This record gives sequence, C-alpha cells and structure tokens, in this order.
Amino acid sequence: MTLALSRSPNERLGREVLPELLSGRSWGAFLLTEPGVGSDAAAITCAIQKVENGYRIAGAKSWVTNGVNADVLLTFGQSNPGAGAKGMLAVVARRNQPGVKASDALNLFGSHAMGTSDVAFDDCLVGDEAVAFPAGGGFQAAMGGLNVARLGVAALCNGALQGGLECAVRYATARQAFGKPIYAFQGVQMPLANVATSLEASRSLTFQAIALLDAGQDCTVLAAHAKKYATQTAFQGLSVCMQALGANGLKDEFGLGRQLAAARVAEFMDGTGEIQNIVIGRALAKNLAGA
Ligand SMILES: Cc1cc2nc3c(=O)[nH]c(=O)nc-3n(C[C@H](O)[C@H](O)[C@H](O)COP(=O)(O)OP(=O)(O)OC[C@H]3O[C@@H](n4cnc5c(N)ncnc54)[C@H](O)[C@@H]3O)c2cc1C
Repeated sequence: MTLALSRSPNERLGREVLPELLSGRSWGAFLLTEPGVGSDAAAITCAIQKVENGYRIAGAKSWVTNGVNADVLLTFGQSNPGAGAKGMLAVVARRNQPGVKASDALNLFGSHAMGTSDVAFDDCLVGDEAVAFPAGGGFQAAMGGLNVARLGVAALCNGALQGGLECAVRYATARQAFGKPIYAFQGVQMPLANVATSLEASRSLTFQAIALLDAGQDCTVLAAHAKKYATQTAFQGLSVCMQALGANGLKDEFGLGRQLAAARVAEFMDGTGEIQNIVIGRALAKNLAGA
C-alpha cells in the first residue's frame, strides 16, 4: 500500500502521509476488493463522486489487510458507474473520520495476525487534497500496487516453507524408528530434499522479480510467476514437512498447521493462481505469438 501511494501524482499527499507510514506512526491499508467483486477489479462499484470541495465515498470494501488497525485507507472506487477501469480513482480516507466503519477481524482459519476486516463507507466526505489517483489513473495504480504485493506474498511463503523444512529436518534427524533416525530412511529424506529444491527455485524466482523491480523495470509477469509458484510450493512443501513428523506434526507446538493454513490463505491474496495464469498467458501470446 505504501509503495502504491508513493507513486501518487499528488505530491502534497505524499509529503504528509508517507512519512507517517514509513515511520510506523500510522498503518496503511489497500481497499480494492468488495463483497461482490474480487478478481475482476475493474468492476468495483464503491462510489467516489465529486461534490463541492471534495468527494463523497459510499460503498463497502472487504478483505482489508490491516483493516482492524489501519489509519490510512487508500480506497479505490468508481467515479462514473459503468465506466469500468476508465472511471476508477483512489482517495485516502482516515479511519476515524465520520462515515467510516471497520468491522472486527474476520474469523479465518489462519493468518490471524493480518487483522483482515471489512470496511463500510456511509457518505464519507474527503477533501480534494485526498485524491491519490484521479479518475482514469486508479486502475493502473491498483495493478501496480498488486505487482509489488505479490512479491511480498511470495517472500512470506518462501519463509514459511524454510521454517517448515528446518522443523522437519531437525525432528527427523532426532526421531528414532526401527533402530535409526527416521531421516536415514530414503522415504523420509528424499521428499524433504525435493522440498528443498522447490524452495530454492521459488526463492530464485522471487529474487529475480525483485531485482527487476529494484532496477525500475516492469516486473508484472515475473511477479505473477513468483507469487503463483511460491504459494503452491509452500502449500505442497509444508504438507510434506508435516508428514515427516508423523502425528506430532499436527500439534500446535510445531507450528506446521499454522503455516499450512497461511500458505492456503496466501493463494487468495493479491490475485489467485488463476489470475496469475491470466497475466502469464497474455504475456506468452504477446511474446511468443505476437498476439
Ligand atoms: C487474507 C486476505 C487478505 C486480503 N487482503 C486484501 C487487501 O488488503 N485489499 C484488497 O483489496 N483485497 C484483499 N484481499 C482480497 C483478494 O485480493 C481477493 O480474495 C482475490 O482477488 C480473489 O477475489 P475473490 O476472493 O473475490 O474471488 P473471485 O474473484 O470471486 O473468484 C472466485 C474463484 O474464481 C476464480 N476466477 C475468477 N475469475 C477467473 C477467470 N477469469 N479465470 C479463471 N478463474 C477465475 C478465482 O481464481 C477463484 O478461484 C485479501 C484476501 C485474503 C484472503
């Protein structure tokens, strides 16, 4: 969210809000998804309409990461119903201002620390200076923000799998069965070696995409590859790690169930695997068939 806001053409907003976010004095949230609209972001209906001296926001946002704590709400909406991407804009609203209501944290089966909530806007008024991206610029800004967020999701999945692998190898080298550490059995050791290979591949892909971003180049397609691969690799790999612990892997104290749930949740964050495949598929057609 912070990186998305840093690309705003509204320099005053950047000067006033970015230091708060970067110093940790405020938390930010990225409000794109709605109860009726997820993957098809251009179809959002939350109204952000011009009124005298500012804009009125009316509508509902859902699945807001940090929604229970965030103060700075980068809110995407539609200025002209039916205009799709061309009518999309984004404004910064504040959590404590009249007309903003955040729900309690959603009751999910994992990733509780993200404080994900819904946020409702009931005729909330913001000034002209709150416009981060004017009509026509909102969609591109949202997609740019998602590209970067996908890299964060990939990195967190890689970290979760690294933790799971360390846990499984430590356990399997200590646990005895049939007179040996279970790690001595190929049936235990080789699946873990395969997890390590997939993890190295996932990390390389993530770093490759991040290097493009750092160099100021377009990382859209590599970020889609990295996000898709890292979420799948973490989910499958953590399951293999859990197997190495036998029934003990089900206990909370080893943390594998928590990480497995987080990897499953990560699949939906910032675009599902199917949406990453749409990005990748379009690039294939363009680059390999000139379509
Ligand atoms: C923990 C968590 C935190 C989140 N945080 C945020 C946040 O901070 N801000 C925010 O704006 N959003 C956030 N999201 C929302 C997330 O971006 C959406 O869940 C995601 O974009 C998918 O939308 P959806 O869940 O509505 O699924 P839908 O769009 O309803 O899709 C349902 C299923 O259909 C598939 N599908 C849809 N279209 C196609 C297609 N064209 N081809 C093939 N398959 C398709 C999808 O892949 C999915 O499997 C968060 C989600 C989670 C789980």
